[in-house]
Amino acid sequence: MKKIVVASGNKGKLREIAEIFSGFAVVSMQEAGFAGDIEENGATFEENALIKARAVCRALGSPALADDSGLCVRALGGAPGVHSARYAGIHGDDAANNALLLKNLAGVPAPERDAYFESCVALCFPDGREVTAAGRTYGHILTEAEGKNGFGYDPLFYSDELQKSYGIATSEEKNAVSHRAKALAALVKKCEGLLL
Ligand code: IMP
Repeated sequence: MKKIVVASGNKGKLREIAEIFSGFAVVSMQEAGFAGDIEENGATFEENALIKARAVCRALGSPALADDSGLCVRALGGAPGVHSARYAGIHGDDAANNALLLKNLAGVPAPERDAYFESCVALCFPDGREVTAAGRTYGHILTEAEGKNGFGYDPLFYSDELQKSYGIATSEEKNAVSHRAKALAALVKKCEGLLL
């Protein structure tokens, strides 16, 4: 089975990528032997995805896939955006990030709570080829968490496509419509020949 190294340590993302890429052996960068720190200082999801995929590809000499993603809320001017993972200060503290999101949206009425998730994925090859693709999914931010499934902001995100929160949705339901699934499908389409 073809191996893909994913430039991420985020267990939720890795699980989803493995589910979506079920025909591949998906391994995390740690499992593949990458121990470095990657500074995600890009201004866009695409820049950050490329920073991560390039760093792991160069260090391991093997193709590397990265996803950079986040939540963009219209009433907050697009925040948390590229800062989604560290919105409340500590990288990956989902509970604190969700609490801050609710606090910053306190009093904002339902019609103004619209938001979308965006994912940009990048696949880098040791010979220098780079392919990127993006996907979005739309919905709104609930006033309290609904469900415990998924990761990150999932319990607060009501999906227009599923008509329920990602916290309630099963992984199959989320993977059928999510920003990450759309970005990965577009990526696979762009580089079908390269992945075989
Ligand atoms: P990254 O690892 O720098 O790309 O940060 C992604 C962050 O965006 C995660 O830590 C979550 O806070 C948020 N995020 C991205 N995709 C999702 C998702 O599918 N569900 C919930 N939160 C997400």
